[in-house]
Amino acid sequence: MKSPKTLIRPLVRNLHPYVPGEQPKVKGLVKLNTNENPYPPAPAVLTAVQKAVDDRLRLYPNPTSHVLREKLARLHGCKPGNIIVGNGSDELLAMAVRAFTEPAGSNASKSQSRVQFFHPSYSLYPVLAATHGAEAYPTPLADGFALPTVRELRNGKRWDFQAALTLVTTPNAPSGRGYRTQDLESICLAQKGVVVLDEAYVDFADEDSSALALKIPNVLVARTFSKAYSLCFQRVGYMIGDPVLIDALDRIRDTYNVNGLGQVAASATLDHLGYYRRNFAKIRATRTRLSQSLSELGFKVLPSQTNFILVEPPHPAAERWLDLLRAGKVLVRWFRQPEVSRYLRITIGTDREADVLLSLVRKILRRPPSM
Ligand SMILES: *Cc1c(COP(=O)(O)O)cnc(C)c1O
Repeated sequence: MKSPKTLIRPLVRNLHPYVPGEQPKVKGLVKLNTNENPYPPAPAVLTAVQKAVDDRLRLYPNPTSHVLREKLARLHGCKPGNIIVGNGSDELLAMAVRAFTEPAGSNASKSQSRVQFFHPSYSLYPVLAATHGAEAYPTPLADGFALPTVRELRNGKRWDFQAALTLVTTPNAPSGRGYRTQDLESICLAQKGVVVLDEAYVDFADEDSSALALKIPNVLVARTFSKAYSLCFQRVGYMIGDPVLIDALDRIRDTYNVNGLGQVAASATLDHLGYYRRNFAKIRATRTRLSQSLSELGFKVLPSQTNFILVEPPHPAAERWLDLLRAGKVLVRWFRQPEVSRYLRITIGTDREADVLLSLVRKILRRPPSM
């Protein structure tokens, strides 16, 4: 018998899978590492989910998330045909790669198999490209994680206006920087292929670009209930766009891709947006206060339009801070890539969690570790 390894496609064997933030097994940690919302879902959402746990668990859920799509269409002023719901927006991003790009090496041109994105941005994108056998085509952001202008992209060496698919995280992760709709629009209009604006954090931002998805036929906007709507556990995201692109995604969708309780939870969420908007305001206020306090302690804090901040700590190195904070029971995130390795990414939690972090930081600064 040959080793089971030989049964695996080389593409899969050599894949570098996505590395999610740690979900710790021990209790009592302040968890500021995966951009989860510190506030629970609205009480009525919990009730709706609890009520749905009954005999109907033996039945298949609605295959097209019909009720949820109707409500989302009303929210965005469009038709249900402009909306597709996914098992998290991650599923929809993977489907977009499969629907719009060709695996490299087929008869496809280079552009037809390119998944283009800015670097740094969401680290799942290159994994999705690799999984499909498409070419991940990263282009650096401008200084301070700014969006390059179309003119800069034209003059730069590395940008493909014909790329089959371009993924833009807006506001950007992991920098937290927000982008203006008019700048995004210029890029969308210059692209020949599909552009996905990944708005996972848009509820914490000053501007949203969802109107572009209903105005420009090659643009899709991706949203998620995970971050702003406290529903990571339920896995519900959606895309808005031209019915022709939405239909293409629908053709490759798994029949029952969104579980029933997820549909119930997301649908109930849309009936209580006031509750969530108050949470957005609280998180933005905590973000301002934490940013200010960390600046005063000598951290360089990048301006954020998201529910996290990217900060450059004073001595020692960021990677060491990660361990020091963890030893003090506060989890934050550190990324190894050279563009961001001098920073820590800190999720905005409650005011109390910010205070725990700040007093730990003060304690570490008072007794600098030997190294
Ligand atoms: C969290 C996140 C997502 C994924 O959201 P899910 O709906 O939970 O799959 C997509 N894009 C970005 C940039 C994210 O940070």
